[in-house]
Amino acid sequence: MKNGNEYARHLKIYLLVLLLVLLLSPDKCFSQIIIDPGHGGYDPGAAYNEIQEKNINLSIAKQVFEYLKNQGFETTLTRDTDIYLSLSNRLTLVEQGRTIAFISIHCNSFTDPRVRGVEVYYQSANPNSYQLAKSIFDNFACYTNLPLRKIEAKNYFVLSENQSTAVLVECGFLSNTYDREYLLSQDGREKIVRAISEGIINYFSKVYPNGLDKMPAASLLNLPSYSSSTTNTTRISLQWVCTTETTSFAFDLEYRPNYSSTFVRLLSSTTQTAYTFSGSQGLTYYFRVRAKDKAGNISPWSTVKSTSIPYDDTNSLFTLSSGWKKASGPYRFLGSSSYTTLKGKYFKLKQGLKLYSVKEVAIIVTKSPYGGKANVYLNGKLIKTIDTYASKNTYRVPLIIKTYTTPTTIYDLRVVTTGTKNTYSKGYFVDIDGVGVKR
Ligand SMILES: [Zn+2]
Repeated sequence: MKNGNEYARHLKIYLLVLLLVLLLSPDKCFSQIIIDPGHGGYDPGAAYNEIQEKNINLSIAKQVFEYLKNQGFETTLTRDTDIYLSLSNRLTLVEQGRTIAFISIHCNSFTDPRVRGVEVYYQSANPNSYQLAKSIFDNFACYTNLPLRKIEAKNYFVLSENQSTAVLVECGFLSNTYDREYLLSQDGREKIVRAISEGIINYFSKVYPNGLDKMPAASLLNLPSYSSSTTNTTRISLQWVCTTETTSFAFDLEYRPNYSSTFVRLLSSTTQTAYTFSGSQGLTYYFRVRAKDKAGNISPWSTVKSTSIPYDDTNSLFTLSSGWKKASGPYRFLGSSSYTTLKGKYFKLKQGLKLYSVKEVAIIVTKSPYGGKANVYLNGKLIKTIDTYASKNTYRVPLIIKTYTTPTTIYDLRVVTTGTKNTYSKGYFVDIDGVGVKR
């Protein structure tokens, strides 16, 4: 009995600890703060005699980094040594998608040495950026005796091109005697570090009163392998969801066609969860989506999904022997298909034409209770005999003929009817609606 009680007590403690771990860990795991010391390497920034802005920026940034890390925030520096970073290099971490706030640290300089004080710049289109800037600005008033000069929206590259909530802090003027001494003294610098760090922390407690949210995540809903599910157009219907939150999120949607390695933005910060994409016959399209929550967290990009738009049977790439007829109607890909019940009729790629960089070939057919068989030849070889029988009419069915491990050029593609059928079939119909290739 005693042992049983003790066991129950241990279990209770264990569960309590587990609960605490679960409650506390998302703060540290899912979001990150990026501290960006301005300039570096051959770019010294502002200077006064031998005093270079890049070094002061780095020193303040490193201390802010330590301060936040000690408070349990996952924090990263864009540079922690005296190296040059291009402006776009400073944003590569943000683009990986887990950044919750980006703070660029600078010092000012001006021709008039009387000008002094703190300036904080924010992103004009982002209300959270203003909140963060205001919080840092107010904390400069709390912890330092530097004059507060300006808080303003600005289109600096690290702000305007930044997908996260970002601010740029000018901690004082190296060209002003008072500011310069403040920036160079250990005491002054510690106060500046405190003002920036507490400013960031206060902002978080305002935006996330219940602690930092988990990162949102987004996912594209299933796409068909061949987009011939659309009856009479070459459109692709896309749908996506946020998989972690139910309210207050927006999405970015991007695509790339097979011939390009770069994704192109289709929608930015949209609340839509569906989109109709218009593509071209014979191309494969790749899509990805990501979610943003109310607090400005951006999820990583979703798993990429792809779909290929088939070539229609009427495409000028193909030629048909005599004996084929046209079936038309809304069930057919692009409104019509080609059928025959005769033996030895061919549907083929025109002589001299080629399909480049093919990873898969599929024949899009209509299956029916009257379906018969046909042989498919690729580059001179019989690859597969297809059977177009089905107990019920089924439209736009991709029958995969071959998958290539390395992209291959197809110079010969032929479908030749065999005049045969399986035992269930009531006919010899071969009905071709298109040719699909994956690229
Ligand atoms: Zn600067």
